[in-house]
Amino acid sequence: MKDKKRVLSGIRASGRLHLGNYFGMIKGMLELQDSPDHDVLFMVADLHAMTTPYDPQELKNNIREVVLDYLAAGLDPQKASVFVQSHVPEHTELAYLLSTAVSIARLSHLPTYKEKVKQYPKNNTMALLYYPILMAADILLYKTEALPVGDDQLPHLEITREIARKMNETYHLNFPEPTQIKTTGAYIPSLTGEGKMSKSVEGSYINLTDDLNTIKAKLAKVPSDSGKGEILDVVEEKTRILPGKSGSNYYYSGGKRRDGVNALMELIRLFCGDTRKKEYEGIYENAGIQYGDMKDELSEAIYAKLKPIQARRAELEKDPDYIDKVLADGAAKAHLVASETVKEVKQKMGL
Ligand code: ATP
Ligand code: MG
Repeated sequence: MKDKKRVLSGIRASGRLHLGNYFGMIKGMLELQDSPDHDVLFMVADLHAMTTPYDPQELKNNIREVVLDYLAAGLDPQKASVFVQSHVPEHTELAYLLSTAVSIARLSHLPTYKEKVKQYPKNNTMALLYYPILMAADILLYKTEALPVGDDQLPHLEITREIARKMNETYHLNFPEPTQIKTTGAYIPSLTGEGKMSKSVEGSYINLTDDLNTIKAKLAKVPSDSGKGEILDVVEEKTRILPGKSGSNYYYSGGKRRDGVNALMELIRLFCGDTRKKEYEGIYENAGIQYGDMKDELSEAIYAKLKPIQARRAELEKDPDYIDKVLADGAAKAHLVASETVKEVKQKMGL
C-alpha cells in the first residue's frame, strides 16, 4: 500500500481564530482530512506565540481556545491529529539541528522579522529571529510536501525550502521542499484597511466566535469612501512578488480608502459569491454603493456561515476532558513520526 502524504499546518496560540486563518489555512486542511491519501496534523503553535510579548496565563488559555476553534471549525480527531507544539519536544530539537544550515544575515533580512521588530521594538529577541527555523522544523519533521498556508507565510516557506535543500545536499537527507497549497482567500485584508487580518492586530479581524452584533459593529468601522469610483483590485496586487525582490514577498501598501473598500469586496466575494462581488463593482462604478446596506448584507452572510461553528463550539466547551484526550492522542501520533525524523537526522549529522 502506498504511504499517505503527511501534511502539517499550524496556528499561533496568540488569540481566537479569525476569518483569515479559516480561509488561508483551516479550510484547506479540512479538505485534506477527507482525502484518503493524506494524513493531516493540526498544530497549536504555542512556542511561536512566545516570539512576541505575551502573558503566561493568557497563553495557557489561548492554547485551549485554538483547539476549541479547530474542532468547532470541523477538524475531526477520527481523521486528523491535533497537538500542541511544545508537547512534542522534537520540534525544538530539530530546529536546533537545522539552525546550523542558516545564516543570521538571511534571517535578519526577512520582511516578517523586520515587521515584527517594528511592531514591538523592545522585543527584538533571539526567539523572534529564530521563528522561521522553528517553522521549518515544524514542517520538515513530518516531511510535508505541500501545505495550506496564507500568503503572509510565503517568505517562511521559502526559507524552509532552502534549509531542506542545504540539509539534503550536506547530509544526504531526503527532506521534500514544501510548497504552498493556495486556497481561495489566501490573503484576507485587515478591517482597518491596512495590511492583513491578524490575531495580534486589534480591530483587524472578525473571529469565528463573533455574534451578529459584533460582526456588524466591526464592519461599521471599516473605512470606506463615497461609494462611487474606480475599482482597483488591490487584494490581487498585494500578493504579487515585486520584480527584483526575489525570495521574499513585498506588499504594496495602497491608500487607506481603497484598501477598506477592497477588504469589503473580498469579503463579499468569499461570503456572497463572485457574481455578487461583480454586481457591487458595477454599482460602485455607476450609481454608487450604500455601504450601510452592503455591510448589513455582508454581516448576515458571515454570521450564517459562523453559526454552525459556534453551535459546535458551545457543545465542545462542555467537555474539557475530551479536549485533553484529543491532545494526548494527537501528541502521541505526532511523536511517532517526529522521533523517527530526528533519529535519522542526528545519525546523518554525526551524532
Ligand atoms: P499573529 O498576528 O499572532 O501572527 P495571525 O493572524 O497572523 O496571528 P497565524 O497564527 O500567524 O495567524 O497564522 C496561522 C495561519 O493562518 C497561517 O497559515 C497564515 O498564513 C494564515 N493566515 C493568517 N492571517 C491570514 C490572512 N489575513 N489571510 C489568509 N491567511 C492568513
Ligand atoms: Mg502571523
